[in-house]
Amino acid sequence: MPDGLRSVDEHLAAILAEIEPLSDFQQPLIEALDLASAEQVSSPINLPRFDNSAMDGYAVYAADVATASDESPVKLPVVGQIGAGQPGRVAKLAPGTAVKIMTGAPMPSGADCVVPYEWTDRGAREVWIANAAWEGQHVRYAGEDVATGDLLIEPGTQLGPRHLGLLASVGKAGIRVRPRPRVLIVSTGSELRDPGSELEPDSIFDGNSYLLAAAVKRAGGVPSRIGALSDDATAFVGALDNKLTRVDAVVSSGGISMGDFDVVKEALSPLGTVWFGGVAMQPGKPQGFGHLTSGGAGDRKVPYFALPGNPVSAYISFEVFVRPALRRMMGVTPEVRPPATARLTHDIKSPYGRRQFLRGAVTLGPDGLTHAQVEPVGGPASHLLGDLAASDCLIDVPETALSLHAGQQVSVIRLDHG
Ligand code: AMP
Ligand code: MG
Repeated sequence: MPDGLRSVDEHLAAILAEIEPLSDFQQPLIEALDLASAEQVSSPINLPRFDNSAMDGYAVYAADVATASDESPVKLPVVGQIGAGQPGRVAKLAPGTAVKIMTGAPMPSGADCVVPYEWTDRGAREVWIANAAWEGQHVRYAGEDVATGDLLIEPGTQLGPRHLGLLASVGKAGIRVRPRPRVLIVSTGSELRDPGSELEPDSIFDGNSYLLAAAVKRAGGVPSRIGALSDDATAFVGALDNKLTRVDAVVSSGGISMGDFDVVKEALSPLGTVWFGGVAMQPGKPQGFGHLTSGGAGDRKVPYFALPGNPVSAYISFEVFVRPALRRMMGVTPEVRPPATARLTHDIKSPYGRRQFLRGAVTLGPDGLTHAQVEPVGGPASHLLGDLAASDCLIDVPETALSLHAGQQVSVIRLDHG
């Protein structure tokens, strides 16, 4: 890389080399939604649990109704009634008889099919059956869905409603999962004010901590914001101090470039545990990553992401570096969004030696991503928040490209997918 910069891939690799999945713990099922399983689960039982009826009707021997038709219905005595979960079940059915059976009720032994109500006169003491039934008709067999011992969940599976429903159905009340990373969000800059407050002539609203907190939440983490900190190193260190014991990572924005008041660099450089340098990307060249020590009982290394202050730079840095790290902590894959391609609608220029992430808007083709187009949104500058909000992807332009032409296929990172 020119100018002694790290490449984007090198910086991401350096980050991920330091990130460990969080320790897993047992959670009740609903709390496990969207988290990654830390265990392999095999089924302790069969599903269905026992042979049961798939219809409301009569359990019979198929042989007894083999000749039944509208013209010559078959009459069978009804020996009882079996409802799902009802006591008084008929355990065994004698040939030549029928038993009323409801959906989900266990099949009596001997009976090999269910004749639905619709084919009968619904008789209570005896029943007329007007259609032949085949062996196995409307019977759900034990284990035909899931057999005892079948693998249900692989470690690393991100648990959705369908997985949780399955786990509950085999009797699991909880599962070991990796937790959501708790992420402290810090904005730095003496010019920053919280939205809703009054602005002085030279102050601005703190957009970044909301942008980043929302991005953390979207990535599956639990953000906590501390209001913007002024560019004062002592106050900055003091504000972090008692917070580190309760978080799994810190993300700050601002204060890491070449200015006179770059508080994050000033405060953290002396520790020697946070790397500050340049990454060959645009936007987002100044970056910092390392760790702080949590303090308190059970000292831990808390990963620290020092992102640049310009809002677009902060967001893209989050997307490219922080999100994959949070996903690694959660144990979910893929850590990086699956790349997509689209055809450029306009020519673009790009600086040599910088991986450029331009904002874009994707229009899908009639068959989805095949023949998708991407239109650049706004310019490359890193303060263009309106354009960022209007975009839905990053156009990922390689370091070596100087220009790309309308009609060319480019790689895009779709920000709301994967
Ligand atoms: P810095 O990296 O601290 O030099 O900030 C670069 C630019 O981003 C400056 O124009 C800052 O005012 C702006 N900036 C920094 N932090 C924020 C923030 N939290 N919200 C909005 N703009 C910010
Ligand atoms: Mg600043």
